[in-house]
Amino acid sequence: MKLVILGATGSIGTQALEVVEELKGRYDIEVAGISGNRNIKLLEEQIRKYRPKFAAVPEEALAAELQHLVADTDCKILSGQEGLCYLAAETGADMVLSAIVGFAGLVPTLRAVEAGIDIALANKETLVTAGSIFTKAIAKNKVRLLPVDSEHCAIFQSLKAGKSQEIHKILLTASGGPFFGKKREELLHITKAQALKHPNWSMGAKITIDSATLMNKGLEVMEAKWLFDVEIDDIEVVVQRESIIHSMVEFADHSVIAQMSKPSMKHPIQYAFTYPDRLVAKEDRVDFAALGKLTFYAPDEETFRCLALAKQAGRQGGIMPTVLNAANEVAVDGFLRDSIGFLEIAERVESEMAAWTNHQDPTLEELIAIDGEIRSKGL
Ligand code: NAD
Ligand code: MG
Repeated sequence: MKLVILGATGSIGTQALEVVEELKGRYDIEVAGISGNRNIKLLEEQIRKYRPKFAAVPEEALAAELQHLVADTDCKILSGQEGLCYLAAETGADMVLSAIVGFAGLVPTLRAVEAGIDIALANKETLVTAGSIFTKAIAKNKVRLLPVDSEHCAIFQSLKAGKSQEIHKILLTASGGPFFGKKREELLHITKAQALKHPNWSMGAKITIDSATLMNKGLEVMEAKWLFDVEIDDIEVVVQRESIIHSMVEFADHSVIAQMSKPSMKHPIQYAFTYPDRLVAKEDRVDFAALGKLTFYAPDEETFRCLALAKQAGRQGGIMPTVLNAANEVAVDGFLRDSIGFLEIAERVESEMAAWTNHQDPTLEELIAIDGEIRSKGL
């Protein structure tokens, strides 16, 4: 299988390359292309190790620098949005792992779908912002869409126990994040360092902050809606503190099927690569006796407003999920640059949503324009 990794230098991207390494000699994967953003040193290392024929970065100056660094290899360096789209759609890939963070991942992922290439999807923002356009393109081009988000991979696996019309509820699990149990007053002076410390998962900065605000869970509710064709209100968020149950499906007879494993993104990444086969994994087994217990709670949507806002945007549909997503990307970036406080993230998202009049069935061009407008306004 020829694999292109969009976002190879990130948390998902680097773990995906480790999975490729771990499957060596057992499963045929050739890294055909990789992309990054500014970390060209790491891209150079990856090019030397995995020997892709193509690599892409958004900025032209960095592309020229990278080309110079790897002049002794036969890797061709591409740049800009066109370069990313070319990498995704025209370099002969059988599968594209979409692991760029944020709205920037949407267009190249969509181009890969239109070229008939299977998608392993980590970039949840693609489905959040353009779910209708994206799922239609998936159906039209008859490509396979394999969820890499751990919860959605768990739902995908659990669904094998029944038919889609037999789904009663999707039980989407959440760790609760680093501030589980805290109230608003206690969150007023949260620092970046505290918010970046996730109890169970090590991830990129944006999704780590989204996990602390519960926006990540809200985005995942919308992601599940599109992936599994269910209503927002048929998706119930359950806090599962140990992150062992990655999600569950409750069927019509109230029988619940769950997928469990140690919290590691290598599980969903490997499953997407080798699907429908399961191969021996390097990751540890769950030792249930050592674990002792699993604990469950309802999420606190009053303190963690982002979850409620995302569900609201998901119910409204149209342009609202794109507005919410763009406002959140701007606000999280502001929080990471110490420009706004933790609680202001939800406030910014809420006021941006209030500023727009919704309409249904936006085109891709409209969504790109809305995203750009909110981004250019900044904080
Ligand atoms: P990350 O920040 O670690 O990596 C992001 C990657 O995207 C990097 O390779 C970076 O170079 C690239 N990138 C960033 N901005 C870009 C731009 N403007 N144009 C092109 N490339 C750009 O992020 P991550 O944690 O690996 O997350 C990637 C995606 O996967 C996100 O959508 C996230 O929600 C999803 N996801 C991540 C995890 C996880 O455990 N990290 C779990 C589930 C889902
Ligand atoms: Mg997840």
